[in-house]
Amino acid sequence: MATINSPKGTHDLIGDEALAYNYMIDICSEVASYYGYTPLATPIFEANELFARGVGDATDIVRKEMYIFEDKGKRIMALRPEGTAGVVRSVIANKLYATNDLPLRYFYSGPMFRYERPQLGRYRQFHQFGVESIGGATIYDDLEVILLAIHTLQALGFENITTKINSLSSGETRETYKAALKAYYKPHLPQMCADCQVRYEQNPLRMLDCKVESDMILAKSAPKISDFLTAKDEEDLTFVKEALLGFGIETEIDYSLVRGLDYYSGIIFEFAYIPSSKKDYGAIGGGGRYDKLVSMIGGPDLEGIGFAFGLERLYHILKEEGKLDHVKAQDDLMIISVGEEARNDAFALLTSLRTHGVRAIMNFTDKSFKSLFKIAEGRGAKYALILGADEVANENVTVRDLAAQTQVSIPYNEITKYMLDTLGFNHAHHHDGDCDCDHDHGADGHECKCRSRKDK
Ligand code: AMP
Repeated sequence: MATINSPKGTHDLIGDEALAYNYMIDICSEVASYYGYTPLATPIFEANELFARGVGDATDIVRKEMYIFEDKGKRIMALRPEGTAGVVRSVIANKLYATNDLPLRYFYSGPMFRYERPQLGRYRQFHQFGVESIGGATIYDDLEVILLAIHTLQALGFENITTKINSLSSGETRETYKAALKAYYKPHLPQMCADCQVRYEQNPLRMLDCKVESDMILAKSAPKISDFLTAKDEEDLTFVKEALLGFGIETEIDYSLVRGLDYYSGIIFEFAYIPSSKKDYGAIGGGGRYDKLVSMIGGPDLEGIGFAFGLERLYHILKEEGKLDHVKAQDDLMIISVGEEARNDAFALLTSLRTHGVRAIMNFTDKSFKSLFKIAEGRGAKYALILGADEVANENVTVRDLAAQTQVSIPYNEITKYMLDTLGFNHAHHHDGDCDCDHDHGADGHECKCRSRKDK
């Protein structure tokens, strides 16, 4: 029978790669928690209307890239192309703004879906980690979100990220700028691409981001947002740039930066990183302020600001740079049972160790020692615990240190404790420096529940 492949533009996450995604999400979530963020998970499908209204009818995402389907109840649904609209919908539907202090701070992660042409760093199902801060209108809210993004990238191991910021302004200024763009583009419109014809009517700012070559040339001479920004917009940009510099972070003000979603206003930003291979995966993340999105989806007049990282892009770059080498499946030990008569005792030991948090596997059928040691080694195990007929008769276990190639014999009734000690588990920590984990155990010290090992 013919094999069935994963759909075009999607990929399976297997083993260490899946672990790396969990690891990246853990780091992102942890740093977000330092900034007061808590998780918020929304469905991966929503009413189509949410994205049409929220992300914007004129965006490529809504016009061309959404996975839309009718459910059995004849509702028109869409797989989410991004996370912000869903979070905002949830904030409104659950009236979170009425029962919690503002700004609300939430983070999310999960798959997003866009029917795009697959290429390097671009998929039809991809994963994002993102945050939304809703209900704060000060420049510190912007600064906090940008700083959180950069802090997270640093925690993941990125060293020289390029951060670009711009302001799309708001209110009247934005309308004046749009009008100026329309006036500029009007005589060229008949020669422009079909998408730009629609953008012209719905959101002329998006015309600046067109990827059609002749339209890109036109964009170069288009009126610049910098000529329209108010003194306050410029002040905000400078404040963010200087504040970040104060924390040792370089940013570039790029007046040509526009982002692919309609809801942005005020400060927007984007992060890029070119790995040593010089492969360009595209932006690793971006975000910005949105002043009308909450009210457009039917909520109160609250502003928000957020960002999202593309996890596939983070993964490829971190992998290339060797920053994910430590994230891999690794057993602590392998139990090697020889002969059926040893299987029961070996299995009982395996279970005992596992319940204590030891990562262990065991062979259930006889194989040569050579092939079993190879399996143990391949899985990173440091010890092989051997149980054969002799061991069962004497009620002891042979513990072999696979690197040192030495072995000792340990009685059944001591083996679990012996292995936990040898692996450095369950050791009582005291504050006198004998501890090798990163946890704070208080001034008088107490037993640590972590899996930190002495041999780490
Ligand atoms: P956006 O939601 O368009 O602002 O995108 C935020 C981030 O998600 C981008 O900077 C990318 O890292 C990532 N991203 C967006 N679209 C895709 C895609 N089709 N495939 C992979 N990553 C994507």
